[in-house]
Amino acid sequence: MLSQALHEGWGLRMNKHILIVGGGYVGLYTALRLQRKLHRELRSGEARITIIDPQSYMTYQPFLPEAAAGNLSPRHMVAPLRRILPKAHILNGTVTKVNHAERVVTFQPAEGEPRQVAYDVIVMAAGSISRTLPIPGLTDIGIGFKTVGEAIALRNRVLHLLDVAESTDDPELRRRALTFVVVGAGFAGVEALAELEDMAKHSTRYYRNIEPADLRWVLVEATTRVLPEVGPEMGKWTLEQLRERGIDVKLDTRLESCEGGHVVLSDGSEFDAETLVWTAGVKPSPVVNDGDLPLDERGRIKGTTTLTVAGTTDAFSAGDAAGVPDVTNPGQYCAPNAQHAVRQAKVLADNIVRHLRGQELVEYRHKYVGSVAGLGLHQGVANVYGVKLRGFPAWFMHRTYHLSRVPTLNRKVRVVVDWTLALFFKRETISLGEMEHPRDGFRAAVATTRR
Ligand SMILES: Cc1cc2nc3c(=O)[nH]c(=O)nc-3n(C[C@H](O)[C@H](O)[C@H](O)COP(=O)(O)OP(=O)(O)OC[C@H]3O[C@@H](n4cnc5c(N)ncnc54)[C@H](O)[C@@H]3O)c2cc1C
Repeated sequence: MLSQALHEGWGLRMNKHILIVGGGYVGLYTALRLQRKLHRELRSGEARITIIDPQSYMTYQPFLPEAAAGNLSPRHMVAPLRRILPKAHILNGTVTKVNHAERVVTFQPAEGEPRQVAYDVIVMAAGSISRTLPIPGLTDIGIGFKTVGEAIALRNRVLHLLDVAESTDDPELRRRALTFVVVGAGFAGVEALAELEDMAKHSTRYYRNIEPADLRWVLVEATTRVLPEVGPEMGKWTLEQLRERGIDVKLDTRLESCEGGHVVLSDGSEFDAETLVWTAGVKPSPVVNDGDLPLDERGRIKGTTTLTVAGTTDAFSAGDAAGVPDVTNPGQYCAPNAQHAVRQAKVLADNIVRHLRGQELVEYRHKYVGSVAGLGLHQGVANVYGVKLRGFPAWFMHRTYHLSRVPTLNRKVRVVVDWTLALFFKRETISLGEMEHPRDGFRAAVATTRR
């Protein structure tokens, strides 16, 4: 009945092409809901959905630290877009320009020439990238922590550096290899550091010459607190916990330079490190700058409470790329996190359907409920609906919550299997870094032949 009404109400607005830029949290969940709500229109060809993303999968980012620690297979923390969204057309590549006046984007496919893709309704869901600063040496040695590639490369790197330290007789090289720096003590930085440190410490049992105390982990934070997402009390507890574990947490300190791996901090300390992870904030994906959609003072798509793009028609945006006013906290914007992204996607999809039917749009309203964070195996911190947990209960809550959130039953089962196997068998502690350079061996063989 509802579907029939929608169908009839839509009579004048046929063949709508909904284009979603970005297949992450917002893109995937918006498309999933549209797929359900518009199933009849999608079948009859009255509506079409296209998603453009460089990847053919959505990354469940809160699982990146667990993948880096080897508790989860990287394949199980991503959701394959084509399998989950059979009614949508997935194009792999990037949108490089949005011309909303003409209702067309420039699409750069993974291979080949760019082309124009026309649309009727656009959803800007391109998320964010690392916010960096012009710090000498940062582009040479720094690595972010936002993608599966970065998480797995970091895991391989940490384990490879343990191999290096075990095998060298140069004390300087050894010290440098065993020094790991993370800049930024928000969610991504603290979880990445805590999981990697836990994994590295565990791995030392397989090395003859490396003791846990030989590892040096430094967390550099420009403000005076860590993990603001869990509130001041739990943030303070996290700080103490990290320090008890021997992690050198430097608050109110900035990275000044890291040229050639020589780290200089604003508190005057200097040391060498082979690894520097940069997690000091995010900024909107650069595509938001390349087009005619309005931006707010922080360079995000200027959003509204109904998740449209301010001052436009047929344009919607949400997630990390958009500045969405928080109606539960007047004068503030919704924070860039998955908690908002998933809920915004639901309202956004419903508002697209309402928009196409000529109905009034509804406001996005969600009061931030707090957060959970994993700090290594069996360790965590949580502050959800005012309930504060630490240690094992928080870690258990962290896992249960994220298991309930990771998309599709298929992924949930695979994640549980990974965790269960990790309970009964020891962690994998080998570096497969050569996977990042698969042709090196072959090249060396060719060079030998030439000689
Ligand atoms: C390590 C880590 C841990 C986190 N933990 C939590 C947590 O515990 N709880 C929580 O609430 N939040 C957490 N977050 C934050 C959360 O993951 C993000 O807020 C959320 O992913 C934002 O969703 P989004 O759809 O806006 O962006 P994303 O999920 O990042 O998706 C954006 C998509 O757009 C694509 N894209 C970018 N540019 C283009 C372009 N030009 N053309 C086409 N496609 C493009 C990208 O490839 C990507 O797939 C964490 C983040 C990280 C990095």
